Amino acid sequence: MASPDPRSDPRWDSTDDSASERRVPAGHAAGAPDRPEIPVESRNAKSPSDASVSARGSAAGSDAAGKAGSGADAPLADASAATDDPVRARRVEAERADAETDGPDAPTDAGIPDVVSDASGERLARAASIGAGAPVLAFDVGGTDIKSALFDADGNAVGLRRTPTPDAGDDMPARLVERIGELGDALRAQHPEIVPQAVGFVVPGIVDADAGVAVFSSNLGLRNAPLRMLAEQRFGLPVAFDHDVGTASWAEYMLGAARDYPNSVAIIIGTGIAGTILVDGVPYTGGGYAGEIGHSPIGEWPCPCGARGCLEVVASAGAIARRYEEATGVEVDGAREVIARAVEGDAVADQIWNEALDALTMSIAQLTAVVAPEAVVIGGGLSRAGGALFDELRARLAARLSFHRIPVLIPAELSGNAGILGSALRARRVVA
Ligand SMILES: [Zn+2]
Repeated sequence: MASPDPRSDPRWDSTDDSASERRVPAGHAAGAPDRPEIPVESRNAKSPSDASVSARGSAAGSDAAGKAGSGADAPLADASAATDDPVRARRVEAERADAETDGPDAPTDAGIPDVVSDASGERLARAASIGAGAPVLAFDVGGTDIKSALFDADGNAVGLRRTPTPDAGDDMPARLVERIGELGDALRAQHPEIVPQAVGFVVPGIVDADAGVAVFSSNLGLRNAPLRMLAEQRFGLPVAFDHDVGTASWAEYMLGAARDYPNSVAIIIGTGIAGTILVDGVPYTGGGYAGEIGHSPIGEWPCPCGARGCLEVVASAGAIARRYEEATGVEVDGAREVIARAVEGDAVADQIWNEALDALTMSIAQLTAVVAPEAVVIGGGLSRAGGALFDELRARLAARLSFHRIPVLIPAELSGNAGILGSALRARRVVA
């Protein structure tokens, strides 16, 4: 059956990517390429699905209930007492714990609402398989939502959800770790047959992956937070901790659009613009300062970061919409609408879209001349503009350069799930 390609989804003006904060990934962060063998059909599985898998739908689920000595309709507590099946007992116990603490004062899984679609209206797509290996828990924490899932021994994401990120404030490190702890508890309770052996945990901001510390994140209100240690204490499992965009870009190499290009650049264009330079399949970190494509200067305009001329001020999806609204006073539904208006002959929209394309061309031309990536993988909301973006960039890049080896420009494949897939793959690396 043909799967709808999320890249052709009209709601591509995603603000899903917390792409503008500086990062300090670790040298060991992604490790050497050691790719799992992924069946082609799994690699390409991108069909949209509902936001989460049924909470009670696991293989050890309710069909088997009642066979252990209590009737199917018996109270859960009785079933727990009567069964000698440890798996079932654990599950029943967890359900009872859920029921007992299901209230606003004692938030549990039942108290954590699902975010069905993000701010741009985009729903969570089914995640590709990461291939066979140890079962792991994985979390991708963003400024507005947390993606969580349990990956089974086949590498399939079970119980993939998107839930709100706790509001930044006092004691945020502890509250954030407790939130992912609750999400993990719920996943383990719902799928007791899958026993995770490690945890993947990625966050935006300045990340010192070696130390396991979120050095700074304005979105999450974190400063020098020892998140890896806190998460290891909470889960009692080894935790792989890393930067979200770096991990997502690496996942595109391991599983997605960059799989044939160990020397490539990934650019995520959403609210902001961030990127990763992949050298021989490993993210180049530059001591933590590489990849800030969104804040590479190509002009003189002011940037909120304090520098001038930063790319993302004119070329992010957020900037395209904002600039049009500022110029016209007309509210638009994201960059998508600005591009549509440009196509229809709106002169202001045409100018803003052209300036964005020229700015992106300039940055990619610089990367081409200096780094010579084999490919540039473009993800984030703007990548779903399709030919309006890619054909234009290819033409402008060819016109701008001469003898250079012009990189292949390809859309990212893992959509909004690159971060959690990378998080799960990283977790596999720390399994003892
Ligand atoms: Zn800047």
